[in-house]
Amino acid sequence: EYIIQNELLLPKKEASIPLDDRGYYFGDGVYEVIKVYNGQLFAKDEHLQRLVDSAKKLEIPLPFSIEKMEELLYSLVEKNSMQNGLVYFQITRGVEPRNHLYSRELKSTFTAFVQPPQDVEDAQKNGVNVWLTDDIRWLRCDIKTINLLGNVMVKREAADHHCQEAIMHRNGTITEASSSNVFLVKDKILYTHPATNLILNGITRQLIIKVAKKYGYEVVEEPFPVEVLEHADEAFISNTSLEITPIKAVYGQLTTTFPIGPVTKDLQIKFKELM
Ligand code: PLP
Repeated sequence: EYIIQNELLLPKKEASIPLDDRGYYFGDGVYEVIKVYNGQLFAKDEHLQRLVDSAKKLEIPLPFSIEKMEELLYSLVEKNSMQNGLVYFQITRGVEPRNHLYSRELKSTFTAFVQPPQDVEDAQKNGVNVWLTDDIRWLRCDIKTINLLGNVMVKREAADHHCQEAIMHRNGTITEASSSNVFLVKDKILYTHPATNLILNGITRQLIIKVAKKYGYEVVEEPFPVEVLEHADEAFISNTSLEITPIKAVYGQLTTTFPIGPVTKDLQIKFKELM
């Protein structure tokens, strides 16, 4: 298995990161995950743009040009002979003795690796159970930072209750899930939280909204309260790996179930066509 460290393509066991990398001490970095589909990076430009935006919001300098990054990612996929799977890549602020105050002159650290495709077929077909809990994260969820403690805590909580994903609410408003966005369907209209500082604006989310509108669905990007879950016809989560995955049941602070409905199924087909 080969990985990328800065500009080098290396066998994984030859790679090492300095202890003083700010990613290690502070989670001071940003990342992206792209789906590799038939050897191609799906929605590559959108993901690279989001990485640039996240880095900019944190004043993390890019280690090299976007063109160079793209070239490195493709060389990584080829070197690992990957046809289908995921590519993970991150930029951390760089290396300096531990100090909350960061310097602006650091050379940032780039890391990338590939992961085999996750088995999502069953989830996409039969849906998943989700755990409803408080959104305990910070107020800049729009930044795709590697500092994911709130997300990992609620994911563990969900798994401990035999749920595959945690969906969260902030003061009674559904925001998103620990590693995906949340959509509800009522009377063929789609509802999802607007792309504010309280959610990560998923690339999959954006593509779903585009495709749905193209095929005549109304999409309402407005905050909605937890109780609306009980009145929705269908619900699903979305991310790069899961694409569109139906929610079968909600447990936790509220309990309700959903059918794998016609709108979700239709959008799944339309989304696959995109790919
Ligand atoms: N929301 C959170 C918190 C995430 O971590 C992710 C992706 O992992 C998403 C939403 C979905 O984003 P995307 O569709 O770009 O994968």
